[in-house]
Parts: sequence; structure tokens; C-alpha cells
Amino acid sequence: MLTGTRAKELIVQDGRVIGLRAEREGKDFFIRGRRGILLATGGFEWNEEMNKRFIYGPPLHAYTSPTNEGDGHIMGMEVGAALALMDHSIFQPGLSIPTDIVEEGGKRLYRPFIHGYPGQIMVNRHGKRCCDECFYPDIGRAIIAYDRIRGEYANYPVFWICDQSFRDVIPLINLKRGQEMDEWLVRGETLPELAGKLGISGTDLTETVERFNKFAREGRDPDFRRGDSTYDKQWGEVVFPGRKPSTVLGPLEKPPFYGAKPELTTAGNLGGLVTNAKSEVIDVRGEIIPGLYCTSNTQAMLLLGHHYDSGAAQGKSAVFGYVAARQMAQSKGK
Ligand SMILES: Cc1cc2nc3c(=O)[nH]c(=O)nc-3n(C[C@H](O)[C@H](O)[C@H](O)COP(=O)(O)OP(=O)(O)OC[C@H]3O[C@@H](n4cnc5c(N)ncnc54)[C@H](O)[C@@H]3O)c2cc1C
Repeated sequence: MLTGTRAKELIVQDGRVIGLRAEREGKDFFIRGRRGILLATGGFEWNEEMNKRFIYGPPLHAYTSPTNEGDGHIMGMEVGAALALMDHSIFQPGLSIPTDIVEEGGKRLYRPFIHGYPGQIMVNRHGKRCCDECFYPDIGRAIIAYDRIRGEYANYPVFWICDQSFRDVIPLINLKRGQEMDEWLVRGETLPELAGKLGISGTDLTETVERFNKFAREGRDPDFRRGDSTYDKQWGEVVFPGRKPSTVLGPLEKPPFYGAKPELTTAGNLGGLVTNAKSEVIDVRGEIIPGLYCTSNTQAMLLLGHHYDSGAAQGKSAVFGYVAARQMAQSKGK
């Protein structure tokens, strides 16, 4: 294994990928792939230009490895690979606090942000809830939703709201349980005061919280079905085992109230090169590119729909990596 070695370009001879050019200690470094090359450079989420081209939504930030700049995608595209699902990503809300700078290049790191426990909701700029706050892909779906009639993102900016009861139990990023504050967190003694500081309507936020509180006391959420799925229930049981009437629904009623403005973040972009079941990369005309294999988030996702994307991404990477390695081991090579 070579660390500090960045793959840059595939080398093709007589229509077959036979190796690659990498950069190591500022110099070209050539690697021969007698049985083939397996691309597994992760997603392209740290490549701002590619995000702008392929992801339709508010600005996207990442909390994966900052070296995931889409090099494998670019190398594949250079030799004619077909692409699919390039607008898919493990979207979720995330936050960057002032100390979160990645050293190289001064890039800003984002972190996932806790949500979906009693005493917490997400609202849009109209003070309305917009998702099942327990299920991060649902929050992601809400943040990228575009309202074509109003000509604006329906739920971006999105606001994270909680009451003191939530903070009594759950620490937040760099803040311990209790009253501690930092500049990224906004506080209001009342809901209208908090709404005013966040720039949303106090009347609308109060109405939303009253409606949510009524349902939360009954342990049900007819608006977004929060708490109904196995995923929601499983995470509720981890933090509030046996809580009644719900492990994930609880009213926001204990002042003060807190708010934050998360951004659209990702645990990895999911679009990528198209392969067949043997992990062989397919070109734009549907032909196999000899000697080129792909897995990881460099390979296009297989699943579509409303599911647990991150687990599916990791499972796919492991399976197709194994298949590619076996395929290469069995090949004669050149
Ligand atoms: C905070 C967080 C929590 C997550 N939680 C879960 C979870 O609970 N369950 C789950 O299943 N999944 C989870 N995921 C998602 C899962 O970890 C990813 O989908 C998976 O790791 C992606 O694997 P990968 O191989 O595609 O990419 P990565 O693991 O990102 O690896 C890509 C590697 O390629 C390297 N690389 C990039 N370019 C080059 C180049 N040119 N040359 C050489 N090397 C290069 C990068 O440095 C990196 O090491 C989570 C992700 C994050 C960030």
C-alpha cells in the first residue's frame, strides 16, 4: 500500500487499461496493472466544480475525507466511462463550527448534527415542519426540494429548533449538556424571541410547535410519521429506552429555546461510473472498458428510493471490491 500517492490518469494501450500515472512526492509515479485497475477513490463531494455541475440543490458541504475530489470519476470519464445517478448523495444536515478547518487548503469541515429526539424539530423559513426529523435522508430530501411555483428552495434555509429538555439530555457538537452556548447556537427565552433572532415568523413557529406538541403528547406524528419506521424506533430506543408514549416524539415546552441553521452536507456522493455485475466499467456506448474495474462511491449507486443510503453505499463497496479482485485474480492478465 502506497500512502501519499495520488492516482491521476489511466494508461491505455490497444484499447485496454494497463496501468496508471500517479503523483508521489511531487513527481510522476507509474504503476502497471497487469490484471487491471480497480478505481475506488470514493465520491466527488470535495470537488466544488463537479458538485455545481451534477448536484441540483443548495451548496453542498462534506464530512468525508477531503481527498475525495472525484479523481476516479475524472479518470473514468477520460477513457469514455458512462456515468449514472450523479445527483445522488447521502444528504443530511450538518454544521461547521469556527474551529472546523481542514488544514490542507483551508477547506471547511462539516459535522453531522443530532436530530429527531424528544424536544427537537426542523422547520423551514415559513416556520413549518418539513420532514421526519429522525431519518436523515428525509431531512436531506426536504433541504434539496425545489418549489417551482415560488421559484425557491422549499425548505432551505432549514432551521434546527429544540427546547431546554432536549439539551438537558443531549450534548451538541462542542457543547456539553445544559446551558453552555457558542456563537453557532441561537437562544430565545420564548419561541417568538428565538424566531425573531433566526429571521422566521414567530406566529408561524409558535403554531407549528403547538401542533407538534399536541401530537407528541399522544405519541404520534400524522404529518411526517416520525417514529413509525424501524429505523426511527431503533435510534429512539438507544437514547430513550422504553420512553412512553414515544422514544422520539416529545413536546418543546421547557424554555429557553435554541436554534441553529444547518447546511446541506453529505456523507458521500453516490453517483459514478457504470459497471456490470463483474465490476467491469462500461463505456458510453455500453461496451466493457477492458482492464478497468470500479467500486466504492466512484461506482454508480445501485439502489434508488427512500432508504438507508450510507449502509447501502458501504455494502456495495465491499461486495463489488471483492468481485473485482476475484475477477482480476482469475484473469490471465497482460
Ligand atoms: C461520518 C460518517 C458516518 C457514516 N456512517 C455510516 C454508517 O453508519 N454505516 C455505513 O454503512 N456507512 C456510513 N457512512 C458512509 C460510508 O462510510 C461511506 O459510504 C463509505 O466509506 C464510502 O466508501 P468509499 O470506499 O467509497 O470511499 P472512502 O471510504 O471515502 O475512501 C476513498 C479513499 O480514496 C482516497 N482517494 C481519493 N482520491 C484518490 C486518488 N486520486 N488516489 C488515491 N487515493 C485516493 C481517499 O483519500 C479515501 O481514503 C458514513 C460516512 C461518514 C463520513
